Amino acid sequence: MYLYNSATHKKEEFKTHTPGHVEMYTCGPTVYHFAHIGNLRSYIMEDVLEKYLRYAGYDVNRVMNITDVGHLTSDADEGEDKMLKGAKREHKSVMDIAKFYTDAFFEDCRKLNIKRPDVVEPATNCIDEYIKIVSGLMDKGYAYFAGGNVYFDTSRLDHYYVFNDHNEEDLAVGVREGVEEDTNKRNRNDFVLWFTKSKFEDQALKWDSPWGVGYPGWHIECSGISMKYNGEYLDLHCGGVDNAFPHHTNEIAQSESYLGHPWCPQWFHVHHLNTATGKMSKSKGEFLTVSLLEEKGYDPLAYRFFCLQSHYRKALVFSWENLDNAQGAYNKLLKKIAALTDTAGTVDEEVAGTFKEKFIQQLGNDLNTSMGITALYDVLKAKTNDVTKRAILASFDEVLGLSLLEKADALREKEQKAATAVGGYTVTGEGDPAIDTLVLARGEAKKAKNFAEADRIREELKAQGIEVTDVPGGAVWKRV
Ligand code: AMP
Ligand code: ZN
Repeated sequence: MYLYNSATHKKEEFKTHTPGHVEMYTCGPTVYHFAHIGNLRSYIMEDVLEKYLRYAGYDVNRVMNITDVGHLTSDADEGEDKMLKGAKREHKSVMDIAKFYTDAFFEDCRKLNIKRPDVVEPATNCIDEYIKIVSGLMDKGYAYFAGGNVYFDTSRLDHYYVFNDHNEEDLAVGVREGVEEDTNKRNRNDFVLWFTKSKFEDQALKWDSPWGVGYPGWHIECSGISMKYNGEYLDLHCGGVDNAFPHHTNEIAQSESYLGHPWCPQWFHVHHLNTATGKMSKSKGEFLTVSLLEEKGYDPLAYRFFCLQSHYRKALVFSWENLDNAQGAYNKLLKKIAALTDTAGTVDEEVAGTFKEKFIQQLGNDLNTSMGITALYDVLKAKTNDVTKRAILASFDEVLGLSLLEKADALREKEQKAATAVGGYTVTGEGDPAIDTLVLARGEAKKAKNFAEADRIREELKAQGIEVTDVPGGAVWKRV
């Protein structure tokens, strides 16, 4: 596979520390609110990447943290703890908020066919891990204690900006936007590894540490959880592009300083979902959730389909019109698959093999998911039997996660159920029992030669926008 690597700014052949095995880490959600569909764009694309790697034959260990402590409202160690903010907003405890929104996150993931990572670990479960790393950094002189907090000393690094060429001036903008400059920091980019109560008196969760009672910074949790469950050599780190700086930059700084060797060579960043007014964000108040899409009548998988139509490295603009188009295209695709009803014959392994090879190759070009979608239409058009087509589509869907066969079969079943047969008279329609009953009544009236009644029912149906056509042995109705 070839993947764009944010750390080298190049598309590169994907390599792993242990051949055939991928240690993969994903920054999980901060559980102080529902995930918005922008967050979920990142998780959908990461899910496809994981499934692709498995499909291509790798064995994958994927780890994800749940941020339930330490993420402040500004990524630059300023402002209130996000979890505390959520708890205050809802008059609940931080732990209740964390549980509620963690469950809500995985419920959204389930609806979007996002597989649960092999390891999911709340940040509050690994305090000992962070203390071990921070102590190690203190011992090696990469960290210092000032004003009650432990800071990472970025001046000790030769190369701090891995992903972009920020300079000190650019960062001053962040400081202006934030609260006030932290005078404890020796260098502007230094970041907090461990907070103590001296800075945030009202922090709900605190733990004992060699530097006093306090809580971890946000960045250290990802390094700690990854080292605990992925080991010292991580192959692939994923997250939304907004996390590249400072979060991932700081993860690299502290992990490599602690380990004394390179940590993760490959960085996968998903670009943003934007609305007309810019990046969708949790802190900007109004945002779109999976539940809202459902309330408006969309299938969450139509949103997944929408995401897959675009490349992960391009910003994606969300609008209801765009989602309508995606839902329409998804429905049409399902209808086409539902029409593959011929069960004669067996899978043509040669045809299937050729298709799969091409699919692996196309998707393996920097996770080209829109080519993956196109491949589905190619299968539908192929000169082979329905059994083979269904088998290939099912196989591709292991990566794309669009529930193609399940949904198509359900659609066909629904259409078949719409055929109601009574006394040799069959009504076929679009799956509305009330209409079926009326059409049936019309058939019976005709049989009894009560044509006035039959006409009256036809008019009644017409008024509801239903057109009835008589066919041998029954009638077919449709909405016009
Ligand atoms: P958070 O819950 O804020 O920690 O974010 C969870 C994930 O969503 C992170 O990987 C973010 O980088 C990512 N993310 C945040 N906003 C967006 C967005 N508008 N589009 C895509 N990904 C996003
Ligand atoms: Zn992280």
